[in-house]
Order: sequence, then C-alpha cells, then structure tokens
Amino acid sequence: MASIARALRPLSRTTPVRLASKRVAAYRPIESAYAFSTTPRRRDADLADLAPTPISHLSETESMMADSVSKLAQEQIGPKVRDMDEAEAMDPAIIEKLFEQGVMGIEIPEEFGGAGMNFTSAIVAIEELARVDPSVSVMVDVHNTLVNTLILRYCNTQAQRMWLPKLSTGTLGSFCLSEPVSGSDAFALQTKAEKTADGYRINGSKMWITNAQEAGFFIVFANLDPSKGYKGITAFVVEKGTPGFSIAKKEKKLGIRASSTCVLNFDDVEIPKANLVGEEGQGYKYAINILNEGRIGIAAQMTGLALGAWENAAKYVWNDRMQHQIAQAYTEIAAARALVYNAARKKEAGQDFVKDAAMAKLYASQVAGRVSGSAIEWMGGMGFVREGVAEKYWRDSKIGAIYEGTSNIQLQTIAKLLQKEYTN
Ligand SMILES: Cc1cc2nc3c(=O)[nH]c(=O)nc-3n(C[C@H](O)[C@H](O)[C@H](O)COP(=O)(O)OP(=O)(O)OC[C@H]3O[C@@H](n4cnc5c(N)ncnc54)[C@H](O)[C@@H]3O)c2cc1C
Repeated sequence: MASIARALRPLSRTTPVRLASKRVAAYRPIESAYAFSTTPRRRDADLADLAPTPISHLSETESMMADSVSKLAQEQIGPKVRDMDEAEAMDPAIIEKLFEQGVMGIEIPEEFGGAGMNFTSAIVAIEELARVDPSVSVMVDVHNTLVNTLILRYCNTQAQRMWLPKLSTGTLGSFCLSEPVSGSDAFALQTKAEKTADGYRINGSKMWITNAQEAGFFIVFANLDPSKGYKGITAFVVEKGTPGFSIAKKEKKLGIRASSTCVLNFDDVEIPKANLVGEEGQGYKYAINILNEGRIGIAAQMTGLALGAWENAAKYVWNDRMQHQIAQAYTEIAAARALVYNAARKKEAGQDFVKDAAMAKLYASQVAGRVSGSAIEWMGGMGFVREGVAEKYWRDSKIGAIYEGTSNIQLQTIAKLLQKEYTN
C-alpha cells in the first residue's frame, strides 16, 4: 500500500484540510533516473525465487519516478490546468519540460537517449500526471506506451537508431489507427498503402488522433493488400511536413480538452522504404499487442484521475457526514490501482495479461467516473463551478470508457477469455 498511503496524510475534521503528499517531500531530480534500469534486472531474475511482495510495492527507481513526476505535475502543470482546459490547448512549455525530464522516453534504452526504465515506471508516471491533469497524462501515455513501444518492439536496430533518439528527446508521437468508419472495428480501416519505386504511397483519413496537433511523428496503419483483408494492414511512419499529409480538423471535446484530437488526411503521401514499421502485413498484430498493453496505461490514467478528484474534494469537505462516502470512494481507488499494478507486473513478468489489462481499464474507468461524479456532489455548488477542477475531473473521466477499446469491448474480451478458461 506504499504509494496510496503516501499520497495521503491523516485528515483533521475541520475544513478545509491540506492533503500533503510524502512523495513530494521525497522528491529527487528525475535526471538521476537515467542511471537506473530496472527492466534487465527483472528480466534476469527468476521470478519464482522472489519473495512475494504487496502488489503496490514499487522498486526504488519506480518510487523515484513517481516522486519526481508528482513534483513536476503539482508544481509546473497544476497552475496551468484550468487555463489549458479553457483554451483547449496544451502549453508547449509542458511538452518541452516532459522531454527535458526524461518522461517521454521512459522505456527507451539509454543508448537511444531514453531513461531505460521498466513498464511500471511508465505506469506510475501516467498515474501521477493524471492526478493533476488527465490531458497531459494521455499525451505521455500515448507517446510512451503506444508509439515508443511499437518502434522499440517491432523495428530493426537501424530504424530504432533513426527514430528513438528523436522520440526520447523532443519529437512527440501519435498512434493513428481509428478512422471515420472504423473505431471498435479497427481492422475495417479504409486507408490504403501501395508500393512505389522508392517506398510507399498512402491515401486515406484518420480520425480521433491524440497528440496530432503537437506531434512530429505519426505511426499510421494502412492496408497494403486489401485482398488479404485485415492481414494486409501494415504500419508506417509518417513525419510532419510530408507533402500530402495534413490535419483536417481539431475536435472540440467534453473532456481532456488540452489534449489534441484530430482528423488527419493523407493525399498521395509518399514515404521511403525505411518508414515501414516492422514487416508488411503484420500491422494488425502489432496494433492488437500494443493496445493490450496501452490499456494498462489508460487504466493508470483513470486511477490517477480518481485519486486527484478524491483528494481535491476530500481536502475541501472532510467531515463526519461525508466520511463513509469518502472511505468507500478511496477503497474503490485502491482496488482499481491493485488491478492496474497487477496487470503491469504480469506484463513485465512475461505472463498472459490481456484479461487483467481489460479488467483494469474497465474497472478504473468506472471508478474514475463514480468518484469524480460523487466528488462534485460532496462539494455542492463549489464542485459544479469552473473555478475549481472538480467538474473537470468528471468531464475528463468520460473518455476512459471510450478510447483504446470501449467498455463494451473490454467486457467482450474478459467474457471471451473467461469462457475459454472455464469451458475448456
Ligand atoms: C478523445 C479521443 C482520443 C482518441 N485517440 C485515439 C488515438 O490516438 N488513436 C486512435 O487510433 N484512435 C483514437 N481514438 C479512437 C477511439 O479508440 C475510438 O473512439 C474507440 O475505439 C471507439 O470507436 P468509435 O468512436 O468508432 O465508436 P464505435 O466503435 O462506433 O462504438 C459506439 C458504441 O458501440 C459499442 N460497440 C461497438 N462495437 C461493439 C461490439 N462488437 N460489441 C458491443 N458493443 C459494441 C461501443 O462499445 C460503443 O458503446 C480516440 C477517441 C477519442 C474520443
């Protein structure tokens, strides 16, 4: 229970109270995180020989990541949250700071300019950011858990050398799968790729693309051979400024308004052979695998959001009348967090985590919606007005049930795997 407990100090019954975070007090500059890499250590360890530890236990480097990101979020992002939401725009200085602090290349090896840390370090960073601003959190989540991981996992060393240093030091990434006609049914995508003498030509449109406004690097899924159905789907890199590639529209949204979500057009976009990600026709497998992991990131975002909403309200309204509801909400946050960390640890251990990731995302988004909604009611009128951030947490929570697989799709995955487990 280390990290939840750390976020909270005993609360007095008088209002308002201040919820302090031990993490903040324990801040150490994140730069020093570059000196550590927990991933190889965990890979080398025989997990069966390790003594069982509480699911929420974090290693020293993971704690350091949580502390540092918490400090960054509270001091540098917190003061800008309301203005960014109203302006529906991400402050470029925040993106710059996140790169500077090593938060955009968490799992990228140090030789490519990254922090060389493990998946759980990314998860705690996403959670800590969401506690303050879920918009910044999803930007970091998509960049780390989808874009960086895809290049790291499926590209050869030459391509990794070309892309990863950029992605860890200054170029924001986008993951472009969804289209106007294909959301849940992602592999019905209509964007086409064809071979040219020097590489490939892409034509089509993408919709709902996170980070698109600020990104310089886009992983685009297109069908190279529609006669093979979804087995023709291939992943490509398209860089900003490539002729024929444009942002057609930036969406105006209910929540996570500082996070850009755009429609993209590809009109005869020519890219070199080197921009192929992995192998032709493997895009559908890459997308499935990456999104299974990415869901743990969204679950962490929703857990952080729930805790942020809870803290914001609890420090304002803590009193005897409210204490049961406040305790109930906190218990649900702790349960969501346990699911998130369990899924992350199973992934790191090389175990099957698909059901765990789906359960974590489903449950954490439900908890985020419930807790942020209740928090508004606990605060009365003060929860409803845009002076504070209570109403923003609730608006932001709605997306948890939609992106990276809707709640129905998570239920479908869980049910399918349960059926396999219990009927075979
Ligand atoms: C803010 C935002 C950011 C996003 N970021 C990205 C991004 O960066 N990259 C990207 O590629 N995509 C992104 N998306 C797209 C997102 O993943 C899709 O919106 C999501 O997959 C749902 O697809 P849809 O919107 O087409 O809804 P639909 O698929 O049309 O779903 C509508 C409803 O039907 C239900 N439904 C659909 N199929 C089934 C089924 N088989 N069984 C039961 N129920 C079903 C759904 O659960 C949902 O309730 C983003 C979306 C939003 C809103």
